Amino acid sequence: MDFKGLEVWFVTGAQLLYGGDAVVAVDSHSTQMVKALNDSGKLPVKIVYKGTANSSPEVEKVFKEANNDTKCVGVITWMHTFSPAKMWIKGLQNLRKPLMHLHTQFNKEIPWNEIDMDFMNLNQSAHGDREFGHMVSRMRKNRKVVVGHWSEEGVQAKIANWMRVCAGWADSQDMLIIRFGDNMNNVAVTDGDKVEAEMRLGYHVDNAPIATLVPYVEAVTDAEIDALITEYEKIYDFAADCKKGAEKHQFVRDAAAQEIGLRRFLQDKGAKGFTTSFNELAGMKQLMGFASQRLMAEGYGFGAEGDWKSAALVRTMWVMGQGLPGGQSFLEDYTLNFDGENSTILQSHMLEINPDITGTKPRIEVHFLGIGDARTCARLVFQAHKGEGVAATIVDMGNRFRMIVNEVKVVEPKPLPKLPVACALWKPMPNLEVGAGAWILAGGTHHSSFSFSVTTEMLEDYADIAGIELVTIDENTTINNFKFELKVNEVYYLLNKSLN
Ligand code: MN
Repeated sequence: MDFKGLEVWFVTGAQLLYGGDAVVAVDSHSTQMVKALNDSGKLPVKIVYKGTANSSPEVEKVFKEANNDTKCVGVITWMHTFSPAKMWIKGLQNLRKPLMHLHTQFNKEIPWNEIDMDFMNLNQSAHGDREFGHMVSRMRKNRKVVVGHWSEEGVQAKIANWMRVCAGWADSQDMLIIRFGDNMNNVAVTDGDKVEAEMRLGYHVDNAPIATLVPYVEAVTDAEIDALITEYEKIYDFAADCKKGAEKHQFVRDAAAQEIGLRRFLQDKGAKGFTTSFNELAGMKQLMGFASQRLMAEGYGFGAEGDWKSAALVRTMWVMGQGLPGGQSFLEDYTLNFDGENSTILQSHMLEINPDITGTKPRIEVHFLGIGDARTCARLVFQAHKGEGVAATIVDMGNRFRMIVNEVKVVEPKPLPKLPVACALWKPMPNLEVGAGAWILAGGTHHSSFSFSVTTEMLEDYADIAGIELVTIDENTTINNFKFELKVNEVYYLLNKSLN
């Protein structure tokens, strides 16, 4: 998938007080602005100018159309003249698509020598946008506010990132996650309220017995496996004992059959993600770790041990980051390395890490895995490249979902000759003591969805659109302030329930 076919609508606010010439000018300015934004090449989603709204019925009509148009993933508003904001009430009461308020103006600088009262009457965004903003705040509606001239790179980048978030949000509104087996026995954090998740976030989580997947894997032909092995040979290194003719090659072929069978199963169901369980493998020859790595790289959400919230977030962050460099993956806090200010966490899992996060050629290896019914499994082994990224999770706090975001710095690990799994080594911001401490205080998972390309701001926009709690842990975090924020949020969400 990509962003083609999606639209963000642009609605300009004005009123008829200033006469016909003003209406024509407002329309012309808006058209030029939208054209320039589309021509900038910086925006992943096309902006469609929907005209000027001059009255309450016009606003209501265009916002209702936005709701009903599946191509439209968000709406940008901008007040060119003073648009009395009572006319936006009915429209805003109806609008269910993400909203951005762009506070800009057509001209970049004041035309010092030419400016006169006619100019002042036409170009009123400076106060018109504040009138609009008051109404949105009065109505307690979450929205993205972007301030700056529309031609500036920074402004275009903010619009571009917000569009990515809108695409991720639209994608999650019919997100089907298939769970092979339940969550692991007694694990708390991977569980949660699936009914609330469907109401709030759009996730639909369905159980599928592993027995329904087995026939899909068994139906895969030798010719199909041969073709896929040829593809693997092009993009991966093979350990000596995994090459064609070598003793462990059959395990790679079995993993290829799992990949093809699992993909077909998910396509038949219309699923965007899945979870596995190492205790739920009757009829399978190995844990579907390699297949999970391959499918994650294609954009399927993945969560281990029944972790459907992680599977969904992995998928959403993949949608948001499409086309950006760096990669993203499901990860788990594996083991700690204490080294003062440079203390780090080794991120890995039994097998299931997306090869998109490495800068080197992954190597196919086959090893015995002693946990559950996993048995002897193929896997891609690699280390993540260096860089800055975010680790995120959504947890169920009982009365609300909380998204936790930790900015992290991925560094180079030492070689791990006896640990045959993919991994990343990172330092949580601002350091392990505060980063991990805050994450634990917030009730964060041991699993996370990691991305080199999605930013904290994008996840903040996502949480705003979803109306869920967000706490971020970055270089400015202190435990004192963080604990205070958690307490304040507790009160806010109790009150918020009664406000809604
Ligand atoms: Mn796990």
